[in-house]
This record gives sequence, C-alpha cells and structure tokens, in this order.
Amino acid sequence: MTNIIKSICPATGDVVWEGAAASADEVHATVARARRAFVDWSLTSFDHRAQIVQNYAEAVREKSEDIALAISRDMGKPLWEARTEAGAMANKVAVSIQSYEERTPTRITDTTRLAHRPHGVMAVFGPFNFPGHLPNGHIIPSLLAGNTVVFKPSELTPQVAEIMAACWNEAGLPEGVLNIVQGGRDTGAALLDAEIDGLLFTGSAATGTFFHKHFAGRPEIILALEMGGNNPLIIQEPVDVDAAADLAFMSGFITAGQRCTCARRLILPTGKFGDAVIAALQDKIAKVKIGRWDIDDIFMGPVVSTHAADAAIKFEADLIARGGKSLTALDRDGAFLRPGLIDVTGVNVPDEELFAPFLQVVRTPDLDTAITTANDTRFGLASGLICDDAEVWDHARPRLRAGIVNWNKPTTGAASTLPFGGPGLSGNHRPAAYYAADYCAWPQAGQISETAAAPAMRGLGQTQT
Ligand code: NAD
Repeated sequence: MTNIIKSICPATGDVVWEGAAASADEVHATVARARRAFVDWSLTSFDHRAQIVQNYAEAVREKSEDIALAISRDMGKPLWEARTEAGAMANKVAVSIQSYEERTPTRITDTTRLAHRPHGVMAVFGPFNFPGHLPNGHIIPSLLAGNTVVFKPSELTPQVAEIMAACWNEAGLPEGVLNIVQGGRDTGAALLDAEIDGLLFTGSAATGTFFHKHFAGRPEIILALEMGGNNPLIIQEPVDVDAAADLAFMSGFITAGQRCTCARRLILPTGKFGDAVIAALQDKIAKVKIGRWDIDDIFMGPVVSTHAADAAIKFEADLIARGGKSLTALDRDGAFLRPGLIDVTGVNVPDEELFAPFLQVVRTPDLDTAITTANDTRFGLASGLICDDAEVWDHARPRLRAGIVNWNKPTTGAASTLPFGGPGLSGNHRPAAYYAADYCAWPQAGQISETAAAPAMRGLGQTQT
C-alpha cells in the first residue's frame, strides 16, 4: 500500500505538499541507480565537477524565491529568514570548492603522490529546521569529491528538495548522481539497510545515536553525525544591559528557538545586573512580533507543528514541577509560541535539548561557577560569552567545552569559512561546514617513480645502501 506523506504549514494549517513515501523497493532501486552512476562520476575531473556545482549555484540563485517560499510554507520560518537560507545555499558552492582544494588536495612530488578518492554512494538525511541549507552542506562537498548521493529530506519539509533536484538537473548533473527519496522513518530505515557507503546526517541526538548503533561493527561506512546541543550563554559584567538582552534574545529565540545553536541555558550573575538583564528580556518577549511567514516585520513564526508546541508546553510544566520558577510563561496559540523564560537555579533539570523558544535561566555567584554550569551537559555544540572585558573572555574561552565559542555574538552565529560541530553528544567528531570535505573523501598515498629500477635488496648480491 502506498504511504502518502503530507506537509502541513504550521502557520496556516494548510496541506502544502503531499506525495508518496518511497517504499523499501524504491529506495533500493534508487541506491542501485546511484551506484551505477558512481564510477563515471568519480572519474570525471575535479574541474568538470566544480563547473557543474557552479552551474547549480546559478540555478539556485534564479530559483531563490521559490526555495524561500517552499521552506516558509513547510516549516513556518519568516520569508526574510528563508531568503537568507536560499542565499546561503548558493554561497555554499564557492566555499566548498575552496575547502575541497585546501583540505583534500592532490599533491605530487618526484617521489610521492597524494590524492583523495570518494567513498561511493552517500545517504544524506536532513533536518526540518534548515531543510535546504543543511543537506546542501553535505551534498555539495559529496558531489565535488566524486560521490553520488541519495538524499532523504525530513518528512516535515519535503518541498525544497524537489527544487534542489530541478536545479541540479539544470546544472547538467548526470542522471543518477543526485537522487531524492521522500518519506519518513520507514523510508529512512530502508536507506540505512541499502548498499550505501556513507551516511551524512544532521538531526537530533536521539536519531544520530540510533544510526550510530545501527552501523556499529561497520567501520567501512563513513558516518558523519551533526546533532543537537543544550547550549549555554554566559553573561557577565561589564556590558550594556540592553545589548546583552538583545544578544540573549536572538540566541534563544531566532527561528522560534529551532536552531541547533540556539541558547537553551542563560547563565547570569546573581544580583542587580542579572535582574536587569531578565527584566529587559521579559520586556522584549512581551513586545516581539510573531506571525505568519509572509508578514514583513515579524521576528519569528510558529514552531514546526502543533505537536512540537505540545512538547514545549509539556517540557515547561515538567521544569515547574521540578521546582523551576516561571519568569515569563510560554504563551501558545496553535503552533505559535511566545517565548518563555524560567529560573531553574538549583533545580535538577534534564540535560535535554528542547527545540523551541524557551530559555532556562541559571544564576551563579562568579565566573568559574558560570563556566562549570555551562559545561554541565553531555552536549558540546555552541556556547557564548557576553562581556566587554577581554580578560574574562580569555579566562572563559579555553575552559568552555563546545565546538562553537562566540564572544559578544549570538550563539547562533556561525561562519561558512569555519568548521561546525562539537564534542560530546553533539556529533561524532566529523565537523561539517568548512571541514565537510574531510568526510567526503579518503586519502590515497603513493610512492612513485617514472621508471622501474630494481630496489636495493640484501642477499641478492646488489650494492647495499
Ligand atoms: P530528527 O532527528 O527528528 O530527523 C532528522 C532526519 O532523520 C529526518 O530526515 C528524519 O526523517 C530522519 N529520521 C528520524 N528518525 C529516524 C529513524 N528512526 N530512522 C530513519 N530516519 C529517521 O531531527 P529534526 O527534528 O528534523 O531536526 C532537529 C534536530 O536537528 C535538533 O536536534 C537540532 O539540534 C538538530 N540539528 C543539528 C544541526 C547541526 O549541524 N549540529 C543543525 C540543525 C539541526
């Protein structure tokens, strides 16, 4: 029986896409097609592949408005933000070419040769929150390195993948090199069991851990897991209260709190300064414009589904039951959530990522306690310090255990020219973004000579060297 999946716009409740989920047979046939395409594609020159990828960037630029609309309608982020995502997708190309050349170069001397070879067929799994940009960040480096790809988008955000496929087609990518299978967990499970050589995943720690177990004992499969965080943001004096509150607001609530880098824990000093930051944040929460993605001046839209909003309300109730003191309660209307703020100082809270606009405040007496609190998590993705004192920054930076450590910037700021990932439960030490080239190819080393000459060997009467 065909399994139909539907994408429901969280802002309007409209069904904005529906289609058949790929069956296990279809997934296996798709992987076989990708494998047939692999040999020829892997043997093309890098320049040829780079040209096609550049053509893709052009096609993405031309279709950027369609891409933005598809993203907004599927998951509800404001159109201004989805346009930024579409822009990032096109910009990924130049930086990926640079990264390929820098991190996986071919180097030939008179006596040695270093080259990099692709793995084969890569399965790419994408999350809903950046349904274009993040899978794109696995797909482009994979194709540049000479792999072929089978991409399974999140079932919550199927639309943008189809536009991406059209862009690759226009770019002149040969048949079978990039393939899309739509569907949910069953389709994903079939892809795990198909004859793939690698799995490049961005999503939750629960799913990533499940994949890690699935491939245990299979060292030949390259596994790149980009997972979530329980990200801390420390604020210390001296700093302008309003600037600090703005940075905290942005860190916690951009994309309705649905970025892997969003701050989840706000670590503030005890005393008047910390109180003033909380008051400024509460004021911003009361005023912030939330609405449908096509309203021009909104800061944020809804969370991805009413189910996600339910989970946020439940999480808040659980923290209150454990002794947390609500400072500003989450305010819910369908999938729309006005952000919440809760003081959990001294409360035993679960070390979990809630993917919603909700900040847990912890008050600490000094910087070292703030740092210890920040590091008190199994995750290690993003962290931040807001403070104008460089000595405080120099003290905190090497002590913070996170892959991203920002200073006087939102925790959500990340540069495409830098790696992206972190220790702990945030991944398996295969950072993405600028370092994605590393997991898309393996090194092939050789000692070489243009002419064959007998090597010096003992015991055969040859001259010893
Ligand atoms: P998710 O883990 O629920 O889903 C991600 C993908 O895995 C989807 O395609 C989904 O269909 C698939 N999937 C889920 N369970 C599966 C199963 N049992 N078998 C096969 N396939 C399965 O993640 P999400 O809710 O879409 O995205 C939000 C999460 O992603 C958050 O935890 C966030 O922190 C994380 N994230 C991480 C990064 C990063 O770069 N580290 C970036 C963005 C999002």
